[in-house]
Amino acid sequence: MENGKKISVAIDGPSGAGKSTIARRAAQNLGFVYVDTGAIYRTVGYHTYCSGVDPVDKKAVAALLPGLRVSMDYGEGGLQRMYRNGEDVTDQIRLPEVSMITSHISAIPEVRAFLLEMQRHMAREYSVVMDGRDIGTVVLPDADVKIFLTASTEDRARRRYKELLERGTPQSLEELLRETEERDYNDSHRAVSPLRPADGAVLLDTTGNTFEQSLHQILAIIKERTGL
Ligand code: C5P
Repeated sequence: MENGKKISVAIDGPSGAGKSTIARRAAQNLGFVYVDTGAIYRTVGYHTYCSGVDPVDKKAVAALLPGLRVSMDYGEGGLQRMYRNGEDVTDQIRLPEVSMITSHISAIPEVRAFLLEMQRHMAREYSVVMDGRDIGTVVLPDADVKIFLTASTEDRARRRYKELLERGTPQSLEELLRETEERDYNDSHRAVSPLRPADGAVLLDTTGNTFEQSLHQILAIIKERTGL
């Protein structure tokens, strides 16, 4: 990466809006590092899952943190690999059980505080496209570009349905709609860092868009705001 000022692009929004795929491709296009903060939270979710602790028992989850080291690096094609105490858990963190556990443990203030510096460190070191729920509001409030990426609940559940089908672990659309709503509710009603558009964020609704259309729109916003 060049010397000089690092550029930060913060992309927030609910699950399944296509954030990670769009953010990763946008980062590639710009030559920036893509940081998937959902994967970082999922690593704590997976740790909770392995320990057998109830994810809504805040004290018990917080007590797990001193025994957990979360780290990451980048593999082939810029894939963000996640490590739990040195063990590669990149695939395990995508288990459906881990998704739901993560949505609970991410509401715990100690968990958010535990992961904050790691995320800020990435933005100090590199120009980044970082996606999550509170990047523009809490993690990088001074980001050069803030985008709130969303899509209708149906659209998001349908995308997830296709994704799981392709992965060979199908779930019914009805169940996915319910889960999407539940995770939305958890993310936007928690006391700490609830999901909401940051001040000055550009709202981008991708309902009905193709992937290419969304990517084009997001790159146009980033380029316009940064003069790249
Ligand atoms: O983005 P993804 O769906 O992988 O994130 C998994 C979970 O992590 C979300 O449901 C959300 O509860 C949590 N999360 C968060 N803050 C972030 C990123 C993810 O609370 N910045």
